[in-house]
Amino acid sequence: MTCPHCASATTKEQAQKTALGYRPFRCSACKRLFNERTGTPFNFLENSTDIVLLVVLWRLRYKLSLRDLAEMFLERGWEFTHEAVREWKTRFAPLMTVRYYPMHGFGSFDSVACFCCAFDELCNYFCPRATAGEPVSLSDQRQLFCERLTALQLMMRMAS
Ligand SMILES: [Zn+2]
Repeated sequence: MTCPHCASATTKEQAQKTALGYRPFRCSACKRLFNERTGTPFNFLENSTDIVLLVVLWRLRYKLSLRDLAEMFLERGWEFTHEAVREWKTRFAPLMTVRYYPMHGFGSFDSVACFCCAFDELCNYFCPRATAGEPVSLSDQRQLFCERLTALQLMMRMAS
């Protein structure tokens, strides 16, 4: 791999990969270390490039909320905040030449309205509610979300 610092082609791959699994290299000319992401716009991200791009793609394509995306990826073990999603969208959306469709193939406003009602119902279903006005802790919110998701998946499986 060519060195991003001095453009030398005499580089040697190192044995141990980075924490995110990228291949590290050492340049024989300038003696500097670098990895596959060094010199790209994705360098220094705490998450892998493919996850970040998937988040941005889903934000653009499906118009998922910042918090929805953070929650969805948390389900799969990727932890980041909704603020991170906002920052990634600002930084990386211009790099993506994604064409998105505001109507998502809905033929009429009636079907959009129907979808929005169902979507709101789903949001209410997942919304953690406090009894007697007490705040719900984040860990309880996560547990509630997981329980409700499991229940919903079971219902969907039974319905199909
Ligand atoms: Zn170099």
